[in-house]
Amino acid sequence: MTHDLGLAWNIADRVAVMYLGRIVETGAVEDVLTAPQHPYTQALLSVLPEAPGEPVVLTGEPPDPSRVPGGCRFHARCQILASGEAERAGVARDCRERDLPVLSGAGGTQVACHWAAVRR
Ligand code: SF4
Repeated sequence: MTHDLGLAWNIADRVAVMYLGRIVETGAVEDVLTAPQHPYTQALLSVLPEAPGEPVVLTGEPPDPSRVPGGCRFHARCQILASGEAERAGVARDCRERDLPVLSGAGGTQVACHWAAVRR
């Protein structure tokens, strides 16, 4: 396990991005790191020096394992929900209330996000 995404690129074939104890996105390193689908993965990658565009600054409190939020575990900090994009996609209520499946980490790219699911 590493917290260094650049290192993951060099040493691994697959990557799993975790938030509050759950995998939120997993797949081949090249797929996940060049075309991240989960907002948390997108935020992580946006702060790398070579990333295009502005870094995503997450708001809200850092994750607290003793107080796991309902619905999507990332929803209180999600830039897509905060910006209204999830609302426009018709999934904002799901983000706040509907839990997401636990990803196994096997197979192809998997993403635990209501918004990413409707964009595919
Ligand atoms: S499910 Fe909703 S709140 Fe969670 S990461 Fe996706 S868009 Fe953000």
